[in-house]
Amino acid sequence: MDLAAVAPGDEEFLLELLNTAPVVDGEPRDALAQPKVARAWMRAHGVASTNAELAALLDARSALQAVVRGEQTPSALQRFLGSVALRPTVSRGGVDWRLTFDRGVGGAVRAVLAWDALRVSSPGRLRPCANPECRLFLIDRSKPNTARWCSMAICGNRMKARRHYRRTHESEI
Ligand SMILES: [Zn+2]
Repeated sequence: MDLAAVAPGDEEFLLELLNTAPVVDGEPRDALAQPKVARAWMRAHGVASTNAELAALLDARSALQAVVRGEQTPSALQRFLGSVALRPTVSRGGVDWRLTFDRGVGGAVRAVLAWDALRVSSPGRLRPCANPECRLFLIDRSKPNTARWCSMAICGNRMKARRHYRRTHESEI
């Protein structure tokens, strides 16, 4: 059975969705707070820019952020998949399986399925930035799996400088 439930770009879509709520200059920001801006973001990411899609997407973002941070168990994601089903269609070539779901949850379903695909293919590699003041996430694609920062240039250097200042003896990875 060939089921392409998760498209190649969906991991990036998930990461970009999770990272739409950064802290900038100490202030929490939300790139999807303004409906007009949010709709443009959705169109750019292949999500239908309807009110229902936006509401489901924001809801899924919060739930996924909490799950990746370990604040909630993955069962918090169940409600986004309630309408998802696999539908077989017989054609000349054989049976094609298609994922179907209710209107208005396409983006949320994509994000949750991408989270699960990552969990299976790259366990533990989607994680929050180790800077406690940063609200961003990263997907660690490095071989040793030791990346800790959303960005070495920003959080990595900042945290190293802080540690150096404190003269602690923590190992620096
Ligand atoms: Zn960071």
